Amino acid sequence: MAAKEDFYKLLGVDRNASDAEIKKSYRSMAMKYHPDRNADNPEAAEVKFKQIKEAYEILSDAKKRSAYDQFGHAGVDQSGGGRPGGFGAESFSDVFGDVFGDIFGGGRRGGTTQRGDDLRYNLELSLEEAVAGTESKIRIPVAVACGECTGTGAKKGSSPVICSMCHGHGQVRMQQGFFSVQQACPTCRGTGKQIKDPCGKCHGQGRVQESKTLSAKIPAGVDTGDRIRLTGEGEAGERGAPAGDLYVQIQVKDHAIFTRDGANLYCEVPISFVTACLGDDIHVPTLDGKVALKIPAETQTGKLFRLRGKGVKPVRGGAVGDLLCKVQIETPVNLTKDQKALVEQFGASLSGGGQKHNPQEHSWTDGVKSFFDKLTG
Ligand SMILES: [Zn+2]
Ligand SMILES: [Zn+2]
Repeated sequence: MAAKEDFYKLLGVDRNASDAEIKKSYRSMAMKYHPDRNADNPEAAEVKFKQIKEAYEILSDAKKRSAYDQFGHAGVDQSGGGRPGGFGAESFSDVFGDVFGDIFGGGRRGGTTQRGDDLRYNLELSLEEAVAGTESKIRIPVAVACGECTGTGAKKGSSPVICSMCHGHGQVRMQQGFFSVQQACPTCRGTGKQIKDPCGKCHGQGRVQESKTLSAKIPAGVDTGDRIRLTGEGEAGERGAPAGDLYVQIQVKDHAIFTRDGANLYCEVPISFVTACLGDDIHVPTLDGKVALKIPAETQTGKLFRLRGKGVKPVRGGAVGDLLCKVQIETPVNLTKDQKALVEQFGASLSGGGQKHNPQEHSWTDGVKSFFDKLTG
């Protein structure tokens, strides 16, 4: 079986696309691969359509999307190997039933009260917080169930009545071209109930705007782009329906010393010209304090030293990364007259040594020389 295509790629959206963007892209793709518009090659359109639908089913479901983000296809394949190829006509019509329900406003949630929206909160962390984990207080504006009517939307003491238009079903059948589609009832907006006497505080919505402070536990090892889901902490549902989820989107701030790349950390360490020549034990910073690093004699600038296990423990498990220290040799500045004389004296002592003292310069000079010889010859 061929490897499955990436779901985000299939829908033409990027990995942090919002639910609305995913839905929009899905709709236009579904229309594009409609069999009526692909009369010349309906089989290919059907296959493509199935893939798009599967991708949408996963990415439109917060739980499945998060599993997919973390584990890829392995996280969301219920049957292990995915569905078998070769789709019968039966399953094909199922598929279209779904899409048109969705496109024309019926939707899978039709007939039930609308679940609250998911919210997204961008949380900036320092590198130290991201690596060690932290508990962050986050304050978010959110629609919460109205306390006055306990979320029903009906004035205290009254209660909603069965909708006269749909008789409580929440859905009505509408003719749209050749299709007869289920649509959310326009009178009760799919709730199946009507409020005769709306609550004064929420005006019948069952929800009011408030801001709430949450404490979000951020696990150790998170990185920019990670999302943490707080179930049920999103917007309250309409009239007592379940609340949405809150997604905390992690953004790690730049650090003065370290740059992170996955589980590894990088830093640049300036060393003196003398240390580079003679070698020395120096101290380098790590996220949990200083450690000794032995600089051998004759160290060249740009050399990378690896400190094993001084990187980051990834949030999804796996080995702790390393700290990579790149040494930069500093040219001494603000030299006194005497110091300059010493350098001159030192330089003179090197001349004649040639390749022995400056191996790189010599091979480089030779390379340049043969390059020019070839040009002129
Ligand atoms: Zn109704
Ligand atoms: Zn109310």
